[in-house]
Amino acid sequence: MSVTPRFDVKIWGARGSLPVASPCFAEFGSNTVCIEVRCGDQVLLFDAGSGIGMAGKALLEQGARHLNLFFSHCHYDHILGLPFFIPFFMPDMVIDIWSGHQSDATTATMISDFMARPFFPVGPEVFRAKVTMRDFVPGAVLMPGDGVVMHTARLDHPGGAVGYRIEFGGRVVAMVFDTCHTPDVLDPGVLDLIRGADLFLYDATFSDEEFKTFAHFGHSTWQHGVRLAQAAGAARVGMIHHATFRTDDELTRIEQDAQALFPGAFCGRDFQVISV
Ligand SMILES: [Zn+2]
Ligand SMILES: [Zn+2]
Repeated sequence: MSVTPRFDVKIWGARGSLPVASPCFAEFGSNTVCIEVRCGDQVLLFDAGSGIGMAGKALLEQGARHLNLFFSHCHYDHILGLPFFIPFFMPDMVIDIWSGHQSDATTATMISDFMARPFFPVGPEVFRAKVTMRDFVPGAVLMPGDGVVMHTARLDHPGGAVGYRIEFGGRVVAMVFDTCHTPDVLDPGVLDLIRGADLFLYDATFSDEEFKTFAHFGHSTWQHGVRLAQAAGAARVGMIHHATFRTDDELTRIEQDAQALFPGAFCGRDFQVISV
């Protein structure tokens, strides 16, 4: 009898822009974006926001020896945890880092420019793990491991960002952050990423009402996440990249309003695990 391998998503950071810590953020979380995806025993990480700190500690405790880390893009809230990811300092660890959002830089220069004086005391030469930097062009199909197929697409975000569709064992999970949208338009590239997905995570920084003021900020809305889910036949949509000061009470209301429109909608929480 064959056993279906696990395909789990763990949210280590659901917040956008800036980590926040206060009792009023306790339920939905404080850390900026980091998502762990488990395909069987393979570990894929998406983005290195402040949430990657706790992810690194947990992965070491679980004995992980090989990791793939993919960047949606490298705005500070998606990279600030990188120098504090303990697996980089373990000699028996193998880490592949991938990015595809940049037209004028490589994954290697992205990291060496980020970990540089005067903003940080040491560069990536202090890493002791076997780290390989990989570059791709949005639209590329990546095969990072056994039975994992990843489609990529360019997202609508200042400076570029990449969305991912992860296919494994007949199931689909997609990462769509950070991204903006045009009102009343469903981006065909995003629809391709999320079509028939069991779960996708979406940049829901704003509400449609707020979007009227912040349309040029490069982020989308929870209502647009619902519209995309309905159009693409997705089963579940997890809202993430919560606006920095959005409280638990506000996110609870957003979650209820979203579920009234689409029962498979929810607001992501730090440390939440979703199995697909
Ligand atoms: Zn962001
Ligand atoms: Zn961004």
